[in-house]
Amino acid sequence: MIDSEGRKVNYLRLSITDRCNLRCRYCMPAGGVKPIAREDILSFEECLLLARTAVELGIEKIRVTGGEPLVRKGVIDFLERLANIPALKMLALTTNGLMLKEKVFQLKDAGVRRLNVSLDSLRPEVFEEISRSEAAGLKRILEGIRLAVGSGIPVKINTVMMRGINDGEILDFIRLAEELSLTVRFIEYMPVLQDGDWRTRVVSGHEILEAIERRYHLDPLSRTAMCGPARDYRISGTRATIGVITPVFTHFCNECNRIRVTSEGRVKSCLFSEKQIDLRQVLRSGDTEALRQTLLRVVSGKPPGRPFTEDRATARFPMSRIGG
Ligand code: SAM
Ligand code: SF4
Repeated sequence: MIDSEGRKVNYLRLSITDRCNLRCRYCMPAGGVKPIAREDILSFEECLLLARTAVELGIEKIRVTGGEPLVRKGVIDFLERLANIPALKMLALTTNGLMLKEKVFQLKDAGVRRLNVSLDSLRPEVFEEISRSEAAGLKRILEGIRLAVGSGIPVKINTVMMRGINDGEILDFIRLAEELSLTVRFIEYMPVLQDGDWRTRVVSGHEILEAIERRYHLDPLSRTAMCGPARDYRISGTRATIGVITPVFTHFCNECNRIRVTSEGRVKSCLFSEKQIDLRQVLRSGDTEALRQTLLRVVSGKPPGRPFTEDRATARFPMSRIGG
């Protein structure tokens, strides 16, 4: 699918639940988010119909996300069915890693080809502060990551950088990346929860790269058709790679190749646009032609560029509802 700006849209981020077993402070308010009624969440059959239609129209990569996707009952069977869609080139999953330990081999057998594990601190007390959950979770997540690496699934760790909270850990994450030969992606913190002091919290991708380059030499990696918005580098002489994702300071709208579908079936062609189209009614009507036309309309209406701006910092949209 090509949008009106000539961008090839080949990547779908599909959220399968709004529920989560963590309460990360950059993602949802302390009291959590009012759960969506079960009957309003797309069934796996509806998700599969959506995915098959999207793939027929040109989607090549699907990333399953949440909330926390691994908390949804039946997720492994669903992933396997998704992976079996013939023209789908890449099935990926984003998880907070808390349940990875138990599920990693099932995920691999189901056909998940890449895992992104969100982890913001390697220090138990900081992990506890950011995720508003027990420090013991950190050990479980790290065990899950090690098992995943051992299983042969490529793993990326996603780390949201926040000044004064975890920005002193950049080099610790790099050492972990070196030890496990994996990728760490540092993400600029997006103030999506009307966070008054967000300016003091955001660490720019530029600053992150500078901090790394004081210790390491970085070799830029070439970009592939499905690599998304990260700028990736190899830590010279090692098998570790790092990336920076810069939604706040360096806009990448001109390269945006994605659409997002929430667990209640709302499709967004731009993270920072309020515009959403309700797919649930179309999916529940079973009218596949109407579904195709709606998806094509979503892509053709994708805004040319809607970068992060001041007013976006005051719009409130918990990421757990959108899937990141
Ligand atoms: N629960 C899963 C997880 O944490 O990986 C999947 C859903 S989570 C919403 C997807 C991604 O969004 C995570 O990598 C998370 O770090 C990122 N995210 C959430 N809120 C964010 C924010 N305010 N700024 C930057 N990234 C954010
Ligand atoms: Fe849950 Fe992921 Fe949001 Fe953390 S970032 S609260 S793990 S959905």
